Amino acid sequence: MEGLAARIATLQRRIAVACERAGRNPEGVELLPVSKRQPVALLREAMDLGFTRFGENYVQEGTRKAQALPGAAFVLIGPLQRNKARPALENFREIMTLDRPELGGRILSLAEELALVRPLWIQVDLWQEATKVGGCSPEGILPVLQSLSADPRTPLVGFMAIPPPDRPEAFAQLGALRREWEQRLGRPLKLSMGMSGDLEEAIRWGSDQVRVGTAFFGERPGPLGA
Ligand SMILES: *Cc1c(COP(=O)(O)O)cnc(C)c1O
Repeated sequence: MEGLAARIATLQRRIAVACERAGRNPEGVELLPVSKRQPVALLREAMDLGFTRFGENYVQEGTRKAQALPGAAFVLIGPLQRNKARPALENFREIMTLDRPELGGRILSLAEELALVRPLWIQVDLWQEATKVGGCSPEGILPVLQSLSADPRTPLVGFMAIPPPDRPEAFAQLGALRREWEQRLGRPLKLSMGMSGDLEEAIRWGSDQVRVGTAFFGERPGPLGA
């Protein structure tokens, strides 16, 4: 079986090659390891290799891991329900799945109450066909932004998306969306797109962050065996 260090080296080569083809500096592409369903011991191994930020999909699982690994920072990449917003803010450093104004308002008031700064990403779904993954439509972006009231406690980092695999044009569309909002807001915004199977294409179209689970940690254990 291939070890973690070797798998990560292979992944980093993939990222480097994709950057070279795109004429981009690899330092401009963050590798966010996605640790959902992976055991704490494996995250510890990744920390020994210098990784300290991890993406998690579920508030409960991320909270458990954050408490077990005080040296790590967790980022929420899964859908967030309003009634889980408090534990999410307490245990995650960033929320990447803001997709509706009610949630934005709730996060802002909690950040004030708890005196926390929590950078946020708006999750967008330009295709509105994969209803389960979440994300707001292009028209939904402005109301979400307004719900944050440009408060410094909840700074907007950029956009996150999980495009359907059968949409090769998706990454280019997301690049265009980012440029449009950079112009409207008059400042740079980041784009988080690309996973194990499609990170080359995402980097080609300007992704600033690839979220990688399987190609980093290996296959995920089943939900019950985790
Ligand atoms: C699971 C997950 C990933 C990583 O997926 P892999 O295909 O294992 O790389 C990335 N982003 C989100 C939102 C995920 O849920």
